[in-house]
Amino acid sequence: MLARMKRALVFGGGGFIGSHLVKRLKGEGFWVRGVDLQMPRYAPTAADEFIIGDLRDPVVCIAALKGDFDEVYQLAADMGGAGFISSGEHDADIMHNSALINLNILRACTDAPIGRIFYSSSACVYPERNQLDPDNPNCSEDSAYPAAPDSEYGWEKLFSERLYLSYARNYGVEVRIARFHNIFGPEGSWNDGREKVPAALCRKVAMAASGGEIEIWGDGHQTRSFLYIDECLDGVLRLMRSDYTEPVNIGSDQMVTINQLARMIMDVADKTLSIRNITGPLGVRGRRSDNRLIHARLGWAPSSHLRDGLQQTYRWISTQVEDGKLDQEAA
Ligand code: NAD
Repeated sequence: MLARMKRALVFGGGGFIGSHLVKRLKGEGFWVRGVDLQMPRYAPTAADEFIIGDLRDPVVCIAALKGDFDEVYQLAADMGGAGFISSGEHDADIMHNSALINLNILRACTDAPIGRIFYSSSACVYPERNQLDPDNPNCSEDSAYPAAPDSEYGWEKLFSERLYLSYARNYGVEVRIARFHNIFGPEGSWNDGREKVPAALCRKVAMAASGGEIEIWGDGHQTRSFLYIDECLDGVLRLMRSDYTEPVNIGSDQMVTINQLARMIMDVADKTLSIRNITGPLGVRGRRSDNRLIHARLGWAPSSHLRDGLQQTYRWISTQVEDGKLDQEAA
C-alpha cells in the first residue's frame, strides 16, 4: 500500500519566513498549502496550493484548515522592522490584526483534525528592563514575566502565546511556540517600510557609492543578534517535531552592535563608507537570543557565522537595487 503523503499548512506562506518554509517542506516531500493576503513577492511559491485570503475573516480560517494537516505553521502577522513596530504609528492595527488572526485560527483548529500547530512569537515579548544594558541583555525564556514588552507588537505576541497555551490546555490542541530573534535572508522586505535592519543596511550599502555615507538610526551602539533564515527553519522543524511545549528562543547568540553590523556588510560589499548616526525609531538598547534552553532540550544551536548569511542577503538585495536602476533607466 502507498504511504500517505504528509500534509502541511503554512499561514503567512506569502511572507519572508513562510515562503522559505514552504520551500523547505516541499523539499522534505510534504504536500503544502500556503495561505496569505498575497503571493510571495520575490519568487514563485513552491506550494502545491495557495489560498489568497484574509485571516481576519474566520470563514477563511475554517476553509483553509480543511484537509487533514499533519503540521500547521502560523506565521501570518501584521509586522515589520523597528520603523514599523516601534514608531507607534501602527500600534492599533498591529494588535487588532494579529490578535484576530490568532483568535480565528485557534478557534478553527478546535474543529479541524490537525496534528499540531507552530506559532511564531518574538523576542519582543521580553521586558524592556532587562534590555537596557547593550552588553548584557537578559532574554532567557523565564525572564518574560512580570511582563513589560517595549512595543504593542510584543504585547500582542505575549497575549497570543498565552492564547495558544490556553487552547492546548482546554481543547487539547498540540502547540509549539518559538520566540524568533531577528531572522534575515534573501527574499524578504527590503524597501517597503517593513524591512528589518539587516535588509535596510544591505540596501543602503548597495545604493551608496564607495567613499559615500549611510545613515543609521540611533548611536549605532545598540546591540542585536541575527539568525539566517536556513538556520531558523532548522530550529523550527526541530521544535515542531519535538515534545517540548513551552515557548523557546530561536535565534543566534552572536551579538553585534548595529554599527558593527553595518561595517560587516560594507566588508561583504567591498565598499568603504562613513556612518552618520541619526534620530530614528530604535526598540530596546540591547538584545541577544539566550540559547541555553533550546540547546539543553532540543540539542539545537545555530552553526554558521553571521557574515555568511550577510553575504547571501547582500548579494540578493544588491541585485534588486541593480534591477531597480535598470528598470528606471528603461522607463
Ligand atoms: P512577513 O511580514 O514577511 O510575513 C507575514 C505574512 O503575513 C505576510 O506575507 C502578510 O501578507 C501575511 N498577513 C498579514 N496579515 C494577514 C492577514 N490578515 N491574512 C493573511 N495573511 C496576512 O514576516 P516574517 O518576517 O516572515 O515573519 C513571520 C512571523 O514571524 C510573524 O508572525 C512575525 O511576527 C514573526 N517574527 C519574525 C521575525 C523576523 O525577524 N522576521 C522576528 C520575530 C517574530
